[in-house]
Amino acid sequence: PPTSRATRTKPNILITGTPGTGKTTLAGLVTSALPDYQLLEVGKVVAQRNLHCGRDESFDTLILDEDLLLDEMELILGGDDAGGRGVEPQHAARGGSGGWVVDYHSSDLFPERWFDMVIVLRSSTSILNDRLVMRSYSEKKISENIMCEIMDVSFNEALEAYHPSRVLSLPSDSIEEMSDNVSRVVEWAEAWEQSMST
Ligand code: ADP
Ligand code: MN
Repeated sequence: PPTSRATRTKPNILITGTPGTGKTTLAGLVTSALPDYQLLEVGKVVAQRNLHCGRDESFDTLILDEDLLLDEMELILGGDDAGGRGVEPQHAARGGSGGWVVDYHSSDLFPERWFDMVIVLRSSTSILNDRLVMRSYSEKKISENIMCEIMDVSFNEALEAYHPSRVLSLPSDSIEEMSDNVSRVVEWAEAWEQSMST
């Protein structure tokens, strides 16, 4: 049976937000600060394991095969039978016990039971624009992403998919905010572990 949050000893944390808001940076810093936690960069898994059905040329992005991705992630995050195909050994050993820091620009495709906390990063549009220009995104891709940020797409998506008490929106314009966010997530995770062990 799928593992529920009640059987986890460590929380699973989803970090979401518009591309460029700092998800991968935050997820990396959090996993460094919490040595027993592991980073799962969903975009990387999709590309490396071919969990897509080709490329959308006009947006220069891979077209996600959602079913393949969810099956793969269930083995890593949710299941207790992760010894099988394609799962890296360190992932297999960890199946279902929690401690995953997952980084993805979307959140509503995942089962709610996988995550104990959902962080939505927010950046102001001029800062986000500069970051995406630095990344050499096309103008079309930049304006699409800026529009999503202005319309709070990531935040609304998270609020619809998860209980609002698990969704936390955090500003990510500056290094100071990034560092506050790391502390906040780390403290929250440690408190979660404490509450589960008592
Ligand atoms: P994402 O994974 O959400 O696309 P990244 O973590 O790759 O975002 O960050 C995009 C760029 O913006 C990187 O160069 C990163 O260093 C920078 N960046 C992200 N968040 C912040 C922040 N809070 N303050 C300063 N720079 C940031
Ligand atoms: Mn990223």
